[in-house]
Amino acid sequence: MRRKLAAGNWKMNGLRAALSELQALARAHPDPSVDILVCPPATLIVQAAALVADSPIQIGGQDCHPQDFGAHTGDISAPMIQDSGATSVILGHSERRENHNESSALIREKARTAHATGLISVICLGESLAQREAANTLDIIAGQLSTSVPDTATGLNTVVAYEPIWAIGTGLTPSTDQIGEVHDFIRTRLEKRFGSGVGLSIRLLYGGSVKPDNAADIFAVSNVDGALVGGASLKESDFSPIIKALE
Ligand code: PGA
Repeated sequence: MRRKLAAGNWKMNGLRAALSELQALARAHPDPSVDILVCPPATLIVQAAALVADSPIQIGGQDCHPQDFGAHTGDISAPMIQDSGATSVILGHSERRENHNESSALIREKARTAHATGLISVICLGESLAQREAANTLDIIAGQLSTSVPDTATGLNTVVAYEPIWAIGTGLTPSTDQIGEVHDFIRTRLEKRFGSGVGLSIRLLYGGSVKPDNAADIFAVSNVDGALVGGASLKESDFSPIIKALE
């Protein structure tokens, strides 16, 4: 019963001119049978949200501070993201865990704040290549999942994205068996912790080098409810076929 979700993460890409891609995306999907979320840089959220106001496409942020307001130069809060017109926020992306030393405990606090604000949190998890090669993937995922996802999580306010770090931006993807193993594992853990009502309703996305030519195979894997797409979400001509593969 979970509604599928195609989410695009523009990362630190996109000047105002890039909004033409969003406009093209909205034109190409006037009545999608899946949810579509685009997360542009914070500088574009207001304009992006206005652009898709009459379309089913939703806009998200890429991070938020755990507090609502205060003396935190350069940071952006969940209420600010929501006030800009976004419905969602990506949290705990591996680039933030690595580049900004974000811990799973901090990500949980951010998610709590996002939930209190009324934003959907897209919480990212994933192992490094060294961790996979040491056969530690499921342990790493279990730890990140239990600490990063707050008790406030429901199927309506939380999406979990499995993004192996070594697959992000590299063109490498795990085998469909490897993706299925991790997604089934996350599903079982969520059911155990939250019960089957919430545990079965939280959507699980795969992310890491999802492209038009591998999307259909990935979407056929059990417990894959969609994708978090980086590079291939920047152009309508790349993102649209991925959305079509999910529909
Ligand atoms: P990619 O990025 O699709 O460019 O590999 C995915 C992500 O980091 O969310």
